[in-house]
Amino acid sequence: MSAIVVPQMKIKTNSRHRLLQFALCVFAAPTITAQSHCCDTAAQRMKQTVEILSAPAMEGRGPGTSGLDASAEFIRGEFRKAGLKSGAPDGTFFQSFVYAPGPSGKELRLRNVIGELEATTGSTQESIIIGAHYDHLGFGPAFSLAPEDQKHSLHPGADDNASGVAMILELAHYFADQGIHPHKRIIFIAFSGEEEGDLGSHYYVGHPIVPLADTITMINLDMVGRVRENILGIAGNKSGDSFDAMLDHAVLKSRLTLMRGGDQYPDDSDHAPFAAAGIPILYVCSGSHEDRHRPSDTADKINAQGMGDEAILLESLIDTLLQSPRPHFVARPQ
Ligand SMILES: [Zn+2]
Repeated sequence: MSAIVVPQMKIKTNSRHRLLQFALCVFAAPTITAQSHCCDTAAQRMKQTVEILSAPAMEGRGPGTSGLDASAEFIRGEFRKAGLKSGAPDGTFFQSFVYAPGPSGKELRLRNVIGELEATTGSTQESIIIGAHYDHLGFGPAFSLAPEDQKHSLHPGADDNASGVAMILELAHYFADQGIHPHKRIIFIAFSGEEEGDLGSHYYVGHPIVPLADTITMINLDMVGRVRENILGIAGNKSGDSFDAMLDHAVLKSRLTLMRGGDQYPDDSDHAPFAAAGIPILYVCSGSHEDRHRPSDTADKINAQGMGDEAILLESLIDTLLQSPRPHFVARPQ
């Protein structure tokens, strides 16, 4: 199949449009079809999580739907199963905040879900955040890119971003199952309100559970379910002075090739508030596609084996981060 290179990673329909000036996303043409091959156990687990979160019962995880609440409960249950402790001081795993959609809309209470894997006793207070938003568009029509007659249909958001949530759950299990506590704290966050303007990540940066000064890296997983031709996009790799060397190492034994975006990361996903606070960030994305923000972003189009390959690469990267001196933040050139 011939590949076409598309110069935008992510295009929003609202005023936060930001074009990416580099070719992070490589698309195999034409439309992606369901994956026929499958896959190792981790890949199957992640695919199953995507299926659960994108099922009709979850109502597209739109703000104000009971499906969004059910998704939060599901994620909390998985954090508990993995053995994480609550990252919310009240023990609920939920960090709530109010979203006021405007003069006509009624106020909504949204919730980040935060789980924590503690560092070894007596070790450094340094923390790594691994995040992915779990909200999506519900039944539109806000931010839908569907044709007019489908804008009010269910938007399941399998790739955007049930895939990222599946990945953080997999990583939580992986690091918790090591049996030893890591040398740094790992904080797993499923953010809400991303589609409305990174509300959950902005709220977290304003109300962190550990001081931002101790937060050495934030990794954001947003749309990681459609790896094509074994290429994975990763940007922000210039925001930490040691990231490129760590990525060189992580990719050594991987089937994946990294397409690095350097400073060319978009400002409309959950890593952005962290970068603005001077925290080194990595933005991981397998690429945009024609189903994004449309009812056709369904679980059958997820490349489960690609997600399995990503998990292995990310585990290696995070392992290195846990054992290394903290990366120094490098500001993006103006
Ligand atoms: Zn997203």
